[in-house]
Parts: sequence; C-alpha cells; structure tokens
Amino acid sequence: MSKKCKHLDQIKFTSTNKHVCEDCVKIGDTWVHLRMCMLCGNVACCDSSKNKHATKHFHATRHPIIKSFEPGEDWGWCYIDQLMLDFSDVVQQ
Ligand SMILES: [Zn+2]
Ligand SMILES: [Zn+2]
Ligand SMILES: [Zn+2]
Repeated sequence: MSKKCKHLDQIKFTSTNKHVCEDCVKIGDTWVHLRMCMLCGNVACCDSSKNKHATKHFHATRHPIIKSFEPGEDWGWCYIDQLMLDFSDVVQQ
C-alpha cells in the first residue's frame, strides 16, 4: 500500500535564507524546530514548539507541504495526504 502525494507539483521552494520563525519573533517567543512551507517559502515552528506556527500556516493558507528546516534533515510532510515525504534527492540536484 503506497500512497502518493498529489501536491508535489505545487512546490516552488526547496530552501530559503530565513532562519527564524518570524511569527515567534514578533511575539518574542521561542521555538524548538523550524519547518519551511515549500509553496511560499514561509519558515515556521514545528508541532513540538508551543505556538505550532507551521500547522497554523497550513490551516490559514491550505499550503499542504512543509519540509524540515533542520540541518541534515531532508524529510517533508504533506498535511492533506498525511504522508511523510523524502526530499534527499530533490535537495541535492
Ligand atoms: Zn499531498
Ligand atoms: Zn513560531
Ligand atoms: Zn505557505
């Protein structure tokens, strides 16, 4: 049983030069890990962070695909398909 993400053709960003969760910076808060929205390049904090801005970004914009923004991590996640994605080949090209 292998489900495939149907949103991969919507990806426009595979990296960004932002290294903070801007929504957390605005309210003076901290985060645990960063995730990047691959549709608009928005950087936001993960579900282990108390503000969960990456998930809030999905609910606000319906942008389904995020990628881990931690060094050496190439996995992503599609919120709509609830599917783990592997970007190790995408990032190296
Ligand atoms: Zn998908
Ligand atoms: Zn945040
Ligand atoms: Zn986005």
